[in-house]
Amino acid sequence: MERNPAKTISISSLLKVKGWREIPIGGIIIDAGNSEEYQTGGWRSFRPIWDESKCNNCKVCWIYCPDGSIRIRDGVVAGIDLNHCKGCGICAKECPQGAIEMVEESKAEEKVRQ
Ligand code: SF4
Ligand code: SF4
Repeated sequence: MERNPAKTISISSLLKVKGWREIPIGGIIIDAGNSEEYQTGGWRSFRPIWDESKCNNCKVCWIYCPDGSIRIRDGVVAGIDLNHCKGCGICAKECPQGAIEMVEESKAEEKVRQ
């Protein structure tokens, strides 16, 4: 198949269009204190599933969670904020009781129903 010269763009010609100093700044949130509004849980590929019956409320998961996604209500662990949890699995790794299991997101709903 012959190339259409009009549609062929070389990398070097693209790079010549703009240098990094001219590229507009993107992906920056300039207002502070609004992380609650950004529901980053959609990035998750693994979901932590909390088993209340195994939990002794030591709060190790709460200390380690980098996203503040372990919910505490009236001083006790009350579940996981899946709107913000990114599924890193640290809570499951650190839980001394094995009360949190990481499950593939596509299989998580089925697991929760069991
Ligand atoms: S998987 Fe990661 S982000 Fe989600 S609750 Fe556990 S430690 Fe927090
Ligand atoms: S680390 Fe495990 S046992 Fe401790 S509060 Fe969290 S889920 Fe419960």
